Amino acid sequence: MAKKTIRDIDVKGKKVLIRVDFNVPLKNGEISDENRIVEALPTIKYVLENGGRAIVFSHLGRVKDESDKAKNSLEVVAKRLSEHLAKKVTFVPVTRGKELEDAVLKLKDGEVLMFENTRFEDLDGNKESKNNPELGKYWASLGDVFVNDAFGTAHRAAASNVGIAANIKETVAGFLLEKEINFIGGTLENPQRPFVAILGGAKVSDKIEVIQNLLKIADKVIIGGGMAFTFFKAMGYEVGKSLLEEDKVELAKELLKIANGKIELGDDVYTGKAFDPNTEKNVRNIDSIPQDEMGLDIGPRTTALFESFIKDAKTVVWNGPLGVFEFPRFSEGTKSIAQTIADIKDQATTIIGGGDSAAAVIQFGLQDGFSHISTGGGASLEYLEGKVLPGIQCVDDL
Ligand code: ADP
Ligand code: MG
Repeated sequence: MAKKTIRDIDVKGKKVLIRVDFNVPLKNGEISDENRIVEALPTIKYVLENGGRAIVFSHLGRVKDESDKAKNSLEVVAKRLSEHLAKKVTFVPVTRGKELEDAVLKLKDGEVLMFENTRFEDLDGNKESKNNPELGKYWASLGDVFVNDAFGTAHRAAASNVGIAANIKETVAGFLLEKEINFIGGTLENPQRPFVAILGGAKVSDKIEVIQNLLKIADKVIIGGGMAFTFFKAMGYEVGKSLLEEDKVELAKELLKIANGKIELGDDVYTGKAFDPNTEKNVRNIDSIPQDEMGLDIGPRTTALFESFIKDAKTVVWNGPLGVFEFPRFSEGTKSIAQTIADIKDQATTIIGGGDSAAAVIQFGLQDGFSHISTGGGASLEYLEGKVLPGIQCVDDL
């Protein structure tokens, strides 16, 4: 369903609450990857350039006791944001109270303030994470309109997303959330065909609902990576020391049955004797994996088969590496598939959802070859499962 975005509202002179995802990695108190700050800039700048008063907030890490506060303060992030905006960012070191309210009242058009980590409220009965209604109402009272731009937490109902939305007149999506809605939501709703889904990663159990949902929508469901072996077992093959979830073999059989030929697994794998980057690499047909070997990458024939489907696709959704790409020796399959998808960029919508798959593509330097690389790990997975994400649902319909 189409959602209102920041372009659909007038922010001039308004106090604009902006929920961003500034959950950046910190090492010894320093930001080790500022990507999330950079990605939030378009939304914040848009508000400032259009005369809005930006009140920016986010969670950072987990806050379980008092001692977690110091290492999860957003103050360093506010400083970095200020550098990127080339503008003063007033940092308010609390999440509620007079100091915050006064700072909001002092804010002028085109100015920005940031308040402290929303999860500081978790020290008091998980008020943020459990969506305490009083907290959402309080934060909503600080602003005139609400912009949600935090996709990474959209699969959880928190005070800082649905809590605010329930208590404010207008809730719209920022540019990042809009992109996720358009690409993932739009594709699942109305894909261009042929639609090829590629699923990999370690475990079937992590991806059951994704497989089930994509089987309903996609024309082909390619399965590789560690989870393929549970399917091979379900087909009657011996998989040696490969990753195997015995308790999911029956489910795999069922999925193969309902898939009606839609699932492609290929018929060869690269194996090693140990889960070790330097283990000797062999190529094996799927019906002859030795007992003391494990499958660590898709084989060359399987790669070619998968690529034959990808080449004609108009939509590709990829979740999960096809082998242990962290070991250079077993990254070949994942890399080749990534390259093939990048090659069809002009003819197809190509989407990656999944933290490790995104990391793999970035490691190969192919990130520009994709239409969209989703930024939320858990959130993208739940979106691909076909679930309604509370952080998206709470945005006003267009
Ligand atoms: P994503 O984060 O993209 O959703 P997952 O977390 O499901 O992906 O899976 C990623 C992991 O799966 C990687 O660390 C990779 O090494 C592992 N993996 C892929 N293929 C295999 C395999 N054949 N055996 C063991 N692990 C594998
Ligand atoms: Mg992962």
